[in-house]
Amino acid sequence: MKNSLDNPIPAHWPPDFVARMTQWLGDEADAFFTALARRDYGLRLNPQRGPLATLKAQLPWAVEPIPWCPEGVWLQEAAEIGADVYHTAGVFYSQDPSAMAAAVLLDPQPGEWVLDIAAAPGGKTTHIAARMQGRGVLVANEVVRRRVAVLAMNIERMGVTNAMIVNETPERLAARWPGLFDAVLVDAPCSGEGTFSRDSQAIRDWSLATVQGNAHRQRTIMEQAAALVRHGGRLLYGTCTFAPEEDEGVIAAFLAQHPDFELADLPPLPGLSPGRPEWIDAPDDLRRVGRFWPHTGPGHGHFYALLRRKGEPSDDLPERWEGQRLPGRVLRLYQKTLGDILREAPPEAGLTLAKDDTLYITPMAPHLWEGLHILRPGWWVASLRHDKVSPDHALAMALRPEEVQSSVRLTRDDARLAPYLSGGFWLDDHQDGFVLVTVAGFPLGWAKSDGDKVRSRYPVHLRR
Ligand code: SAM
Repeated sequence: MKNSLDNPIPAHWPPDFVARMTQWLGDEADAFFTALARRDYGLRLNPQRGPLATLKAQLPWAVEPIPWCPEGVWLQEAAEIGADVYHTAGVFYSQDPSAMAAAVLLDPQPGEWVLDIAAAPGGKTTHIAARMQGRGVLVANEVVRRRVAVLAMNIERMGVTNAMIVNETPERLAARWPGLFDAVLVDAPCSGEGTFSRDSQAIRDWSLATVQGNAHRQRTIMEQAAALVRHGGRLLYGTCTFAPEEDEGVIAAFLAQHPDFELADLPPLPGLSPGRPEWIDAPDDLRRVGRFWPHTGPGHGHFYALLRRKGEPSDDLPERWEGQRLPGRVLRLYQKTLGDILREAPPEAGLTLAKDDTLYITPMAPHLWEGLHILRPGWWVASLRHDKVSPDHALAMALRPEEVQSSVRLTRDDARLAPYLSGGFWLDDHQDGFVLVTVAGFPLGWAKSDGDKVRSRYPVHLRR
């Protein structure tokens, strides 16, 4: 809905937002509003599912590359991305192209300890996980309880094996884990101006007062996040808003109060523009932060600032946990059941029994996380019920067909896809036991064969 044919600004956008962006952007304002109102669709490919070029060639849509993110592509045409079976199989994550720069700028390395303090629904966390290649420790935290389940679904769908899913306040994390992380991401709750084309609630909520309120909350979160970073470690702050009070303003206030942190230069990614400290009379040095704009590339815009904690990390930092904590009887059941399903011996380093019925591979020693609100202390590999171990969906989503004894390989147009994804069955004289169901070789989950029928074990909460 536009004001008129030649006015690019939708009529329901907040007048104060339009007025100040018009004043600040001057000649660029029209191009900005036109691009912000447009919908485009980003997909981030999952390198765990195969080489990027191969995955790209298998997509059913024509796509363009995203200049700053090798895993990213985008479509100009609307498409049913979220309903596609490759989405179900974790081949890609639907994500705004400018949001894909977060993991590129944070640059997490395999083996590091990384915290995403505001992680739901999981776009940036699953990107960070892909870059960590299953090594090191990733903590995906989300304070809002009802948002944690979708975070877990996305982490499992993308086949992540080194993440803990936590539902805590930044304050409790900072009190428990001071200086523990090589890298911390604060993808802050914000006024979401960059989401105006797809989020009508963000439009309704926007006011000059909510911008100020967000800036206050962001400063509080950054205060806690700072305590969690190791000496020598990185802290990346990001928002999907253009409001300088929530962007350069938060970083200027942070730097003024934290002489132990310094602003780091961002790599010169294509599409990344300097900060705009002059909009709020912030120090000129704040030009070294970065802004992605909707009118200078794909995506709806993002703000990023990379900070480094001064000093050297201390020597007594914990290692990833390789221990094991479960009764010998359960371990033997686990080894036997998963040994019959997998081609190699099932993973044991980090194996933990939680709540007497759930087996996880946890990357962090239990004494470090016990007492916190944890949804998943790691990769959920199996469940224990009535003295029987069965493999979990999250295990299936991190496997390739060549890693299991038995698989059913479906194609994209296979008639068995519908019964599989709705929890049904089909007739088949497949050998007894658990089988990995795949589409075009990508994992979908487990089924169980009794010799006559193959029954779907696709989780009830995911069924279509
Ligand atoms: N990083 C996510 C992604 O890429 O999918 C998006 C995060 S979203 C921009 C911000 C998140 O911060 C929301 O999930 C929200 O629930 C959470 N949040 C809200 N208030 C918060 C607070 N006081 N402290 C920490 N997180 C908060």
